[in-house]
Amino acid sequence: MTRQVKVKDILIGGGAVIPVQSMLNVPTSDKAAALRQIKKLEKAGCDIVRLTVNDAAAAKALPEIVAKSPVPLIADIHFDYRLALASLEAGIAKLRINPGNIGDSKRVMIVAEAAGERGVPIRIGVNSGSLREDVREKVRSGKLSLGLAMGRHALAEAKLLEKFGFRDIVLSVKATNVAETVRAYEFLHENCDYPLHIGITEAGTVEDALLKSGAGLGHLLLNGIGDTLRISITGPVEKEAVAGRKLLQFLGLRPYGPEVVSCPTCGRTQVALEKVAEKVGRALRADKELRAFDCKVAVMGCVVNGPGEASAADAGLAGGKGYFLLFSKGKAQRRVDPENAVEALLAELRALKNTKKAKINK
Ligand code: SF4
Repeated sequence: MTRQVKVKDILIGGGAVIPVQSMLNVPTSDKAAALRQIKKLEKAGCDIVRLTVNDAAAAKALPEIVAKSPVPLIADIHFDYRLALASLEAGIAKLRINPGNIGDSKRVMIVAEAAGERGVPIRIGVNSGSLREDVREKVRSGKLSLGLAMGRHALAEAKLLEKFGFRDIVLSVKATNVAETVRAYEFLHENCDYPLHIGITEAGTVEDALLKSGAGLGHLLLNGIGDTLRISITGPVEKEAVAGRKLLQFLGLRPYGPEVVSCPTCGRTQVALEKVAEKVGRALRADKELRAFDCKVAVMGCVVNGPGEASAADAGLAGGKGYFLLFSKGKAQRRVDPENAVEALLAELRALKNTKKAKINK
């Protein structure tokens, strides 16, 4: 069990629900653009948003952004400890800063004390670029693994804060190499009890990023490692939030409304299943009542195997020749016309939701 830190009203670590994070990709000094993106991220399911505080203009914009943000914010600081102090002054909920980057010990002490007084945690975010040149050389020559080097470096950075009694620390050790990232987090898991922010950095554009992050973060989370996460994507930031929530949902770690499963199709398929599955997904997202219903919905390519293969689903459709079979809990209900199939499925889900609610109220 890791220690627990508080980011405003959101808990990280100690067995708390795993929060999803993302980071703005607009300049913080552009308050309107920053707030627009924060709201988009919140809508997409992001719990905590990070933004860069890279100069005086960004620090100046921060108080208003903090005041208007619907989610807690993290200030990302590099080198200049005064920007960390300005962010704390602005009411930031968490700092991301590497103590080793901000200069002498006195500056580290000032930041640690200011954060400590306000109950603001600090994430130490190590990546391959954070390593000392001599350590990097050892990694390059194969004498030391990148994962171990990053893990050790993160603990050394944490010590710089511990020296001043500061323990509200979150650690991250992200590389673009999945196996080394996993190795780094496993090292930290074995060697400290700080909560871990997990992620694969520079993971690429959508498809690559989803695969890399799914592989690395999936492995870690299934082994009980990871207290908060970000799925880094070169692309629209909202996709990061959706991917984070979905990963937690698929691993059974956090519900996130309906999960649509669909079969890969085969020679038995006689319907345009991809289109139907997409239509079901769209209809569920658009339905105010059903999008918050934690359930499994199946869209299957044939009536022979479909209902059986998807027996774990709450309800679903299986494609026949010129019709769909509506099924519920693996049992056939009735045939429906293709043009009414999605609506019939939604009606079935609404009925299931109401039955569930009635049972809970009893
Ligand atoms: S459910 Fe039917 S169509 Fe889909 S993969 Fe299985 S056998 Fe093929």
